[in-house]
Amino acid sequence: MRRPAMTIELDTDIDPRTLIRPGRPGFDDLRGTFNVLDDQQPEAIAVPTDADEVADVVRWAHRRGLRVAAQSTGHNASPLGSLRGTVLLNTSRLTDVRIDAAARSVRAGAGTRWRDVSPQLADLGLAALHGSSPEVGIAGYSLGGGIGWLSRKHGLQTNAITAIDVVTAGGELVRADREHEPDLFWALRGGGGSFGVVTGFEFGVQPLAQVYAGALFYPVERIADVLHAWTALLPGFPEEMTTWCSTIHFPPFPEVPEPVRGRSFTIVLVAFLGAEADGRALLEPLRRLGPAMDTVAVQPPSALHRQAMDPESPLPFRATTALLEELTPSAIDDVARIAGAGSPLGLVEFRHLGGALHRATPDAGARATLPGEIGMLSLGVVPVPEAEPAVREALGGVAAATADQRVGDYPNFVMQPTDASRFFDAPTWARLRQVKAAYDPGDLVRGNHHVPPAR
Ligand SMILES: Cc1cc2nc3c(=O)[nH]c(=O)nc-3n(C[C@H](O)[C@H](O)[C@H](O)COP(=O)(O)OP(=O)(O)OC[C@H]3O[C@@H](n4cnc5c(N)ncnc54)[C@H](O)[C@@H]3O)c2cc1C
Repeated sequence: MRRPAMTIELDTDIDPRTLIRPGRPGFDDLRGTFNVLDDQQPEAIAVPTDADEVADVVRWAHRRGLRVAAQSTGHNASPLGSLRGTVLLNTSRLTDVRIDAAARSVRAGAGTRWRDVSPQLADLGLAALHGSSPEVGIAGYSLGGGIGWLSRKHGLQTNAITAIDVVTAGGELVRADREHEPDLFWALRGGGGSFGVVTGFEFGVQPLAQVYAGALFYPVERIADVLHAWTALLPGFPEEMTTWCSTIHFPPFPEVPEPVRGRSFTIVLVAFLGAEADGRALLEPLRRLGPAMDTVAVQPPSALHRQAMDPESPLPFRATTALLEELTPSAIDDVARIAGAGSPLGLVEFRHLGGALHRATPDAGARATLPGEIGMLSLGVVPVPEAEPAVREALGGVAAATADQRVGDYPNFVMQPTDASRFFDAPTWARLRQVKAAYDPGDLVRGNHHVPPAR
């Protein structure tokens, strides 16, 4: 059913270049997201160039009874749904980056991606708590948690944040940190994008001159052997060692590097923050399995930016995810049957978590810790609708195989609309809703995993 068109009158107090209506040039490009199966249909798209324009857009939407959804890259837009009655506030022009190397601190606009920050940091011998893809936005990643190569040692990116500039639902630009708006600061760090429109972040980074990192590639037929060997090693790995075990069926596209193009592998990805000799000793049992390719070596931290080989261009996909207490031998055998040669799933990934992710720092935000030892993320590309049933069946199979070991979900990996209360314990959820009621009682600002105001 076609929805009735909503007429939006442009105000004289808002620059028409900032607000784009359906049918106008640029609208379709800007409503595109990382998952091309999304079909965002906002009432208008705002592309402000600074915090004052963000505040203008928020006040304008409020006057018209519209809601506001902030988006930087659209890497997790699917949970938002259609955006009817909502202005999409695209922050992609807020890309100012300042690095204070001496203070090990970064100030980044809410439209920046990790690729805008991490390479510069690497040149300075520093590393942020970035994740697997340089294309992911710092905003959504940081507001939802943020797990990457350094998380077992240094925790979640959200708790490395020291200050957040945010336009509230009332259209006021405030700075939230430990001294100012402390409840808002707490909620934004892990509670997601429901509390206002962030215009910029400040966060701490770590010194990192080099890392023992790379990948061990095994033929995909070895998936069960590799997963059994990898899971057996996890309890003995120190926090300096982060390994992910993935099965990837690489597409035959020209942009995929030749050695892996069109081929399938089970891969152990490695980032070790200690001495090479110690890293070698820890990996020895995996090397004994005889990888077909081995790229693990001492490297600059910039090697981590793309080592997961994540897709960087939008694609049509479905995904499933879970945080697992462990990966049992029977689950491994089931997963191996589903994810091996000929699988409709392009990626089945298991990330070793734990370490600092289990320890709450005293002044942490709403996402203090993440449960589980292993994060599972599985993804199947759906190039045509006919491909969807097989992908859904395989995703369901991986979810069923690991269901007994499931201890929760990591919201940034959940890519469907869902009740966000499931991501938090009851006191944290109640406090999040109270903060939302204090800052946005009319529920103007929509987060992808939405927190409604307490009544
Ligand atoms: C290929 C790929 C790789 C990934 N790798 C990792 C990884 O290694 N580790 C990890 O932890 N996660 C990872 N993720 C998940 C990622 O953290 C989430 O998708 C995250 O939400 C992306 O943030 P974004 O700003 O790019 O996306 P967006 O879709 O633009 O934003 C997601 C949500 O964040 C909120 N938001 C964004 N900007 C603002 C703002 N200015 N103000 C208020 N709210 C805002 C909104 O609620 C928005 O709906 C990955 C995702 C993909 C697709």
